[in-house]
Amino acid sequence: MSSFLFVTDLDNTLVGDDAALLELNQKLAAHREQHNSKIVYATGRSLYLYRLLAEAKSLLPPDALITAVGTEMYFDREGCAGNPRISNRGVNQQESQYDREWANILAQGWNRQEIVAIASQFTDLQLQPKSEQNPFKVSYYLAEAAAAEILAKLQAALKQEGFDIKLIYSAGQDLDLLPKNGDKGLAVQFLRRRWKIAPEQTIVCGDSGNDISMFEGQEKSLLVANAKPELLEWYAANKNEHNYLAKADCAGGIIEGLKHFGFI
Ligand SMILES: [Mg+2]
Repeated sequence: MSSFLFVTDLDNTLVGDDAALLELNQKLAAHREQHNSKIVYATGRSLYLYRLLAEAKSLLPPDALITAVGTEMYFDREGCAGNPRISNRGVNQQESQYDREWANILAQGWNRQEIVAIASQFTDLQLQPKSEQNPFKVSYYLAEAAAAEILAKLQAALKQEGFDIKLIYSAGQDLDLLPKNGDKGLAVQFLRRRWKIAPEQTIVCGDSGNDISMFEGQEKSLLVANAKPELLEWYAANKNEHNYLAKADCAGGIIEGLKHFGFI
């Protein structure tokens, strides 16, 4: 057994089966203790909503935390082993260190103020609460009936002003505007480079469309059995020896995948 990088989505991937989560947590904590493996959460949640979940479900403190679909990254205070890991308690953003190097990568081609000004011309877009906004993410509500037309027009307006950014529409109501470099997959690549961990020593786990960016590299990828249709569709079209569709849901599927790939 050797050290590996474990990256997982939270909602309906790590979290969703409490008994299996307890078992997985014990295995991961022991592996980190013995082999210095790294634990990373990659979630669509804001830091605030992450902390509510972490406390409710007693999540292990991660070595790094990717929030807001890749637009924020946090490390323990010094970003190196031996220091206190990211606190799951409280909701004070100052407790963890917001990574400046990742922020500089996101800043390329991004100007929040100008992007908001362009989007404000569309009255169908309604800004989401402040907790869901961050320097590299602007989130709106957009009704499904109007979505196709508004998305096309907004995309064109942004392009005209020279902005090549991501428009992610999901759940029939949420529209996220993100930097071109802002996604979970690129955030994982960044962490692998920083920690010098090979793709074959990395496993990424997920259940839905915003996890696909993590599955497109050479890392081992694990889809939980309860994966959403868009991810199953991706799997059907991209099956190879690097990815594995578990038979069990959530944390139970993750344990299965860790064994399948020989990590535990
Ligand atoms: Mg999920």
